[in-house]
Amino acid sequence: MLSQREYEDLLWKINHIPSTITGKKRHNLRTTFKKKLHEHELATKYPPFEPLKFEQYFINFRTTDSTLIHLIDQIKSTSVFTLDTESILIPYRPNAPALIQVQIILSESFSSVVLIEMCHLPRAHEHTFTLVKQFFQTLFNTDKNIFIWGAISELHNFCSYNLFTYEQLYLCNPINLQNEFKDHWNEQHPHQPTTSTSTNYPECICEECLGLQKTNTWSLQNAVAFELSQWLDKRQTTSNFDIGLDPTLYHFNSAETEHRQSLIRYAVYDCLSMQQIMLKLKLIERQESNINPSNEIITATVNDLTNIACDDDQHDLQATNNFEPISPADIQDASTPRQQQTLTKAERHRIHNRTCTLKQRKRYYKTEIIISNIDRRFTIKNIKEIIKSYGVPFSAVNFSTSSATRKRSIHIGMRNSSQINDYQHRIDHLFTTSHYNRFINDRRTHRSSNKR
Ligand SMILES: [Zn+2]
Repeated sequence: MLSQREYEDLLWKINHIPSTITGKKRHNLRTTFKKKLHEHELATKYPPFEPLKFEQYFINFRTTDSTLIHLIDQIKSTSVFTLDTESILIPYRPNAPALIQVQIILSESFSSVVLIEMCHLPRAHEHTFTLVKQFFQTLFNTDKNIFIWGAISELHNFCSYNLFTYEQLYLCNPINLQNEFKDHWNEQHPHQPTTSTSTNYPECICEECLGLQKTNTWSLQNAVAFELSQWLDKRQTTSNFDIGLDPTLYHFNSAETEHRQSLIRYAVYDCLSMQQIMLKLKLIERQESNINPSNEIITATVNDLTNIACDDDQHDLQATNNFEPISPADIQDASTPRQQQTLTKAERHRIHNRTCTLKQRKRYYKTEIIISNIDRRFTIKNIKEIIKSYGVPFSAVNFSTSSATRKRSIHIGMRNSSQINDYQHRIDHLFTTSHYNRFINDRRTHRSSNKR
């Protein structure tokens, strides 16, 4: 954050760019100043971004076989990832690819973030190099949903390191979170015309009123600010991500270590903030391995141990997604009477909410329609949209994946079973690959016809 003096200085500079500086140079200088100002405004307005729990790993020539094997196993165990890359600017030359960040999301609140240091890889003949290749081979696979703030094509330049091929990239299921976010924002924030002169009317935050154009993409920083009300520090955007970040790589003095720490934070926060946006947008609500909706034992246990009244009807569907993984061990802990007595108000409240959530889960899936072998590219949000358009009243939607066939199914929870056959008939032919292709095509046509 800037001091008041620095801030005023910056404002002055923006308005007093010397007339001797002209053309492109003038434009660039103005952009640089404006970026600084924007950064400062966000830093003043919002608290710094707070990540969920994660573990950090480096892949470079120091990485051991066992770490790589461990990471490959982690990739095998899940289907949700975020990915980002950093390149370095070289004047008058294309950007040089330097870093790949892969976040392996293991549960709603825990993940591994792996920084692959492209300029410090093991030599091609070494065994670890083969394992790094295997790392990517496992990652770029049909059952892996990889969220990227942009397109997977940002990895094209990285193919030159021979860790994966261009063709391999297209084996996975990349999801452009930047586009998903734009759609979400426009859906949630249509223009609100101010009808009167009333001053307490909330300011409109539609894209246009925010000064964003229909064709503009959202920066991750703005998305974090507007959706999560947090400041994602972007001051390191054009740093040298190729210098070797892992503190064990070479011998560094304390200033060097500190500098690297700030670059590492920057690199991992890109992934970690995407994860929180995904949670907020409910793109990764309840993963397959998480909670079994028919697990009555858990529900019963929780209900028995807390004598807190649960006002079911005050909780609507929106409120169900507090993404705490609920494990039986978790509940076991709270069920011992000794601990129950010492629960703080906040803890009681948490358990109360959890009880309600579990009750709701049970209720939402009272009867369900299951559609098997769906195209993996459909997101929960897409599916909800489509089901709605077919006039099927659902209470919840979730994925499951068969551990034997790796095929994905969707579970559509219904509160009311009376017309279930009719509803099933309306939608059971949907969500195939050809449906997905048609769906995307329709969307594109729709989008371009909206453009003026
Ligand atoms: Zn507006």
